[in-house]
Amino acid sequence: MVVGGGIAGLVAARGLAASGRDVLLLEGSPQVGGKLRSAEVAGLTVDVGAEAMLARRPEGLALATEIGAEVVHPTAATSAVWSRGALRAMPRSLMGVPFDLDQLAASGVLSPEGLARVAAETDTPVGGDVSVGDLVAARLGDELVDRLVEPLLGGVYAGHARRISAAAAVPQLLAMARRGSLLEQAAAVPASTAPVFAALPGGMGRLPGLVVDGGGFEVRTSATVRALRRTTGGWALTIGPTTHPETVEADTVVLATPASPAARLLGEVVPDAAAELATVEAASVAVVTLAFRAQDLPDTLLDRSGFLVPPVEQRTIKASTFSFAKWAWVRDLDPDVVVLRTSLGRHREETTLQAADDGLVRVSLADLAAMAGITARPLDTHVQRWGGGLPQYAVGHLDRVARIRAAVAARPGLAVCGAAYDGVGIPAVIGSARHAVASVTRAE
Ligand SMILES: Cc1cc2nc3c(=O)[nH]c(=O)nc-3n(C[C@H](O)[C@H](O)[C@H](O)COP(=O)(O)OP(=O)(O)OC[C@H]3O[C@@H](n4cnc5c(N)ncnc54)[C@H](O)[C@@H]3O)c2cc1C
Repeated sequence: MVVGGGIAGLVAARGLAASGRDVLLLEGSPQVGGKLRSAEVAGLTVDVGAEAMLARRPEGLALATEIGAEVVHPTAATSAVWSRGALRAMPRSLMGVPFDLDQLAASGVLSPEGLARVAAETDTPVGGDVSVGDLVAARLGDELVDRLVEPLLGGVYAGHARRISAAAAVPQLLAMARRGSLLEQAAAVPASTAPVFAALPGGMGRLPGLVVDGGGFEVRTSATVRALRRTTGGWALTIGPTTHPETVEADTVVLATPASPAARLLGEVVPDAAAELATVEAASVAVVTLAFRAQDLPDTLLDRSGFLVPPVEQRTIKASTFSFAKWAWVRDLDPDVVVLRTSLGRHREETTLQAADDGLVRVSLADLAAMAGITARPLDTHVQRWGGGLPQYAVGHLDRVARIRAAVAARPGLAVCGAAYDGVGIPAVIGSARHAVASVTRAE
């Protein structure tokens, strides 16, 4: 039995079915996919959740191969960062630590003082886990964190650099800091032409359906699991409304929900893990998709895949992805229509999202006009809210996850997986699902 039909649950269900079990996946909402979702905007079907996966980790590409899905890579359009009153070419970096100081200087992202502070790297010792922001600020100064690390980390976690664990989010950076100079080691990173990201033509929203097809497991949607308890032979799950509860029994349960429902479900059976999971906070975000007539947008935008906005700039949107420029498949949907998206919302800043959908569209348009010169009226818009959509990896996250896993592993036939554990990106989430399947099948 698998609870939760996001990519973690789907991959876990597929893995359990491949090991010869009868598998039922219970999904609370009316559709599987979780944060992988498509919607129609101006008649075009595009992603309104995740839109890419890292190609430099194997799990996402391996899954695509397993299900026979073609993958595509972004175009050569480059990204930018809005800093000090202009869109600046994004300097190459490892989560903000520049590979090339001259390129960082030429970008204009930092002030001359900020740049001088980076160049005067200090040799601050690093012990255990620390936040990414504190680590980089101690070595290379606050301005680099505020203007480059924040928007890059914020783009992935919708969180704050000075709260997110370096060990969990950017372990390479922590390892480098323990070895010596960040700048020297970043400068020695060999340039690679291998694509960093991949996606499915037609969007990542297609992936869930492809994982279900031929996956050999059964899916029940609109089936929120409300309780989990131990029975003599295994597990009993309660689904359905409180007035008509239904019990489903299983030998094996993989919980693939976000942290807070997982904490509720584990409350009775693994209270220690439940208490730890309940402390994993989440950021709420929204994706606003806008479709414009191609002729209404400046041609110059075609070279840009989008831009990030550091919080220090005090704008409302935190990023915009020019999907039409970044993905050939989006551009090819209709050459006369361009689709782009903005994202809004950071951890503990829910007030940004406390507006009606048309309010989120309005602030997106105002920011796009101010930062990208887009002043046209959209043909159509779509607002997708992801309440509690991105778990926050606080300092100490890896130890917390190890304790959760150890407590869960002490209950035979039970495992957890999903974005709350080993990384929020799709490949890491797939990896966590594989890990969960291995742990319950090994235990037999
Ligand atoms: C806006 C946004 C953009 C993103 N962009 C990218 C990107 O471009 N690339 C990338 O790699 N990652 C991206 N991510 C992160 C990535 O999409 C997610 O971390 C990942 O998809 C999470 O998968 P999951 O299966 O762990 O959880 P989810 O997708 O959250 O799925 C969990 C499922 O469990 C169900 N559920 C919850 N409680 C219950 C219950 N009690 N009973 C039954 N079902 C339940 C939910 O309805 C949901 O379907 C993005 C995330 C967001 C929010």
